[in-house]
Amino acid sequence: MGAASRRAFSSVDSAAACAFTGGSNPAHFTAEHVAFRASVRAFVQREVEPHIEAWEAAEAFPRDLYAKAAEVGLLGLGFPEELGGVPGDPFLNYVAHAELCRAGSGGLCAGLMSHTIGLPPVVKMGTPEQHARIVGPVLAGEKVMALGITEPGGGSDVANIRCRAERDGDHYVLHGEKVFITSGVRADFVTTAVRTGGAAEGGAGGISVLVVQGGGPDGAFGVGSEEERAAGLTRTKLSKMGWACSDTAALHFDGYRVPAANLLGEENRGFGGLMANFNNERFMIAVWACEMAAVATQEALDWARERHTFGAPLLSHQVVRHRLVDMHTRICATRSMAEGLGARLAAGESSKQLVSELAMLKVQATDTAEYCAGHAVQILGGAGYMKGGCKSERIFRETKVLSIGGGASEIMKDLATRQLGW
Ligand SMILES: Cc1cc2nc3c(=O)[nH]c(=O)nc-3n(C[C@H](O)[C@H](O)[C@H](O)COP(=O)(O)OP(=O)(O)OC[C@H]3O[C@@H](n4cnc5c(N)ncnc54)[C@H](O)[C@@H]3O)c2cc1C
Repeated sequence: MGAASRRAFSSVDSAAACAFTGGSNPAHFTAEHVAFRASVRAFVQREVEPHIEAWEAAEAFPRDLYAKAAEVGLLGLGFPEELGGVPGDPFLNYVAHAELCRAGSGGLCAGLMSHTIGLPPVVKMGTPEQHARIVGPVLAGEKVMALGITEPGGGSDVANIRCRAERDGDHYVLHGEKVFITSGVRADFVTTAVRTGGAAEGGAGGISVLVVQGGGPDGAFGVGSEEERAAGLTRTKLSKMGWACSDTAALHFDGYRVPAANLLGEENRGFGGLMANFNNERFMIAVWACEMAAVATQEALDWARERHTFGAPLLSHQVVRHRLVDMHTRICATRSMAEGLGARLAAGESSKQLVSELAMLKVQATDTAEYCAGHAVQILGGAGYMKGGCKSERIFRETKVLSIGGGASEIMKDLATRQLGW
């Protein structure tokens, strides 16, 4: 990487060189990363920041945001060019997600980018016909995609899926339930894990992946319409502690028919295809957690500079400075770990060691988010407890979902130890 690119990277955050850049190694970022960061930042400032408080209060962001995000290359990022994507390495993803985090709304990140968990199994296991029908419209922001794995019976034990799909002619008939599905109310497509196997293929062996099409078996009805309900798919919006502007749903299937043409890969062999994206998902959640921690820390630092108590700025008190530097230290360590793993992912590594370190990264990053958001609210005092205008308040409420979703911390630690052979 040339000196010009390095200068460009370091100038991006010259005014706020603390929480937003600490622990980052400019050597990982090329001129392309720098340019993309600037374009996503402009998108966030123009299309998101002015509206985010209203979207959080309304518990929804507008559907046309998908198309706008597609225009700047956000939705296609990391997907193959021939399918309408924008090829990119983990660092392009890193800068894009870090910039989305600047709005301080994890709900926006999770909702707008739900295709990053729903689409990879389609890309990996889908046929050219499925690619053309499903991937292109989602990456163009015309259709919304979700991933349906978790069930009321449990989410951590992914192999214990109970939602059943029985083959009936040209269709599968679904009975069962999915919960906590991001974008589940508005999704046109839900990449859904179902049990197709008999008793002989228990556990991971009997799982298939179907793309459930909203609006009836052939998409002829409206998503969430009365006709869709009559056809056997009921979507229920769920209310949450945080991630307010993301749509989260319970999906109930009562004889809902899905075209057999929407089966991804082979029947009873879908588990591996679902698992294949888990490393990327963990990496992305870790980036969100680390960068949300940075947003909260920066907000607290700015406040500590401005706010005076007993005739002096908060920052003049050693206890406040120490608290801020403890927050910053955790962000630096996490970012450095994330970038190191990003470089190994970019190099194509897929070792057990890498899988274990990604699991540990998710725990490290989400612990950092909890630590920083908690201390940021403390430094902000009463202002940090008020809704509207204070990002730390929102981030504080959002930290828990990061250490539960996409593999809870306990599960990540178990995975790490297994991969290490302990
Ligand atoms: C806002 C939100 C959005 C989500 N979006 C999606 C989505 O889009 N698609 C989707 O499929 N899912 C989604 N999820 C579900 C999420 O992935 C699950 O909540 C998560 O995997 C945990 O599953 P669970 O909630 O069933 O908890 P459980 O599996 O019941 O676990 C409960 C607790 O017990 C712990 N635990 C479980 N087993 C063990 C063990 N063996 N040892 C020690 N501790 C254990 C867990 O770590 C957790 O702390 C979402 C969740 C939330 C909250």
